[in-house]
Amino acid sequence: MSNPQLTVAVIGLGSVGSMAAWQLSKRENVRVIGLEQYGRVHSRGSYAGESRVFRTAYHEGGLYVPMLLESRNLWRELEKESGRDVYYEVGTLSIAEEMHPEYQTTLGTVRDYDLPHELFDADQLRARFPQHRIHENDAGILDLQGGGLRPEVSVMAALEIAERNGADLRFNTPVLGIEEYKDGVVIRTEQEALKVDRIVIASGSWSNRISPELNDLLRLQILGLTWFMPRTSIEPFVPANFPAFLRDSGPVHVFGAPSFDGYSLKACSNPTWDVVRDVDDVPVGYTREELVRIGQQMQELIPDINPEPVRSSVHHCAYTPNRLPVVDLSESERVITVAGLSGHGFKFIPALGKFAAELAADSNTESVPGEFSLESHMAVLRDRGHYQGGGH
Ligand SMILES: Cc1cc2nc3c(=O)[nH]c(=O)nc-3n(C[C@H](O)[C@H](O)[C@H](O)COP(=O)(O)OP(=O)(O)OC[C@H]3O[C@@H](n4cnc5c(N)ncnc54)[C@H](O)[C@@H]3O)c2cc1C
Repeated sequence: MSNPQLTVAVIGLGSVGSMAAWQLSKRENVRVIGLEQYGRVHSRGSYAGESRVFRTAYHEGGLYVPMLLESRNLWRELEKESGRDVYYEVGTLSIAEEMHPEYQTTLGTVRDYDLPHELFDADQLRARFPQHRIHENDAGILDLQGGGLRPEVSVMAALEIAERNGADLRFNTPVLGIEEYKDGVVIRTEQEALKVDRIVIASGSWSNRISPELNDLLRLQILGLTWFMPRTSIEPFVPANFPAFLRDSGPVHVFGAPSFDGYSLKACSNPTWDVVRDVDDVPVGYTREELVRIGQQMQELIPDINPEPVRSSVHHCAYTPNRLPVVDLSESERVITVAGLSGHGFKFIPALGKFAAELAADSNTESVPGEFSLESHMAVLRDRGHYQGGGH
């Protein structure tokens, strides 16, 4: 049973925050206040960069699959409610040597969950996807439910619906601190001290500035994006002809998306950047040497591209040691945390937004896997103490 007349503040209106605001705004007994330090849909969050890969054939393991399938339905619902195109179901192609561990876990997941897919050997890959240079022992899995999401459009769409449902969204309003009391939580901004019943911390890479526990747990990884123009025609790279892709080729991991802008495709590999603790330590761009090397790697794997990136950008994302997200309800039931999406969480933010709403409005933890709790994460941190890279 829901609590009567709750005021819930969502701190951060980016990926998770926009979805939490949307889900909470459906509840008649909840008053939603959203607070965002920058403007509505900005370029400094972890969601920036035009596209995100969606896939259900998950090499990260089966724990994610139910959340991914639910998210797929919610992405469709978001499209329907907003009238915007957020999700292109063009498939996601994973290419690797057949015995590559991630290829094998992807294969295990599609079989365990009976996910719609197609399998290819090297010759079949060459015939079907001539855009990629295929090596002797390569194999491919096409996840037919995968594809490309448009992150900025998604955040805009969710915020728009939340507002339409009555949410009070405040932009250019950084939260400076939070204080928890027996009868509520006080949120300090430059303008006021706002008292609410519950808060959802959805502050991404900035979450560790708000909570000391998250500051111990989360580390920021730097992730970059590059776009290339084909030398001949864009036609082979438009969504109808080119699935999103992940590829492991020797030590190089690359990922990309079809052309959403009509002239370039996204194809990325990341230099080994140091893990940092604060957003202010993230570099503003690639070095020239990094861009030249990425261009060479990409041309080796997608021969028709011009190796000079036509666009590039460098971003950040908060990681947990095992790359599972944090979804937690505090003992007082006043603080809900959704953080540490670890370079691969955009695809399942609709499900995380729903978890946040269930925790904030109903104190219902039933659907949230125990591994996502802060307590579990702190135990992993104590045991493991180091952070895995990767993502997408
Ligand atoms: C380059 C790159 C590529 C990626 N590729 C993929 C992919 O292909 N597929 C995939 O599924 N995932 C991918 N990811 C991961 C995914 O995009 C991120 O995990 C996700 O966007 C993180 O969402 P978030 O809500 O935690 O953070 P954000 O989206 O950054 O939202 C946090 C928001 O909180 C606001 N905020 C912070 N502090 C405060 C404060 N004190 N007061 C008010 N507001 C505040 C921020 O301004 C921001 O708007 C990628 C990530 C990156 C960086």
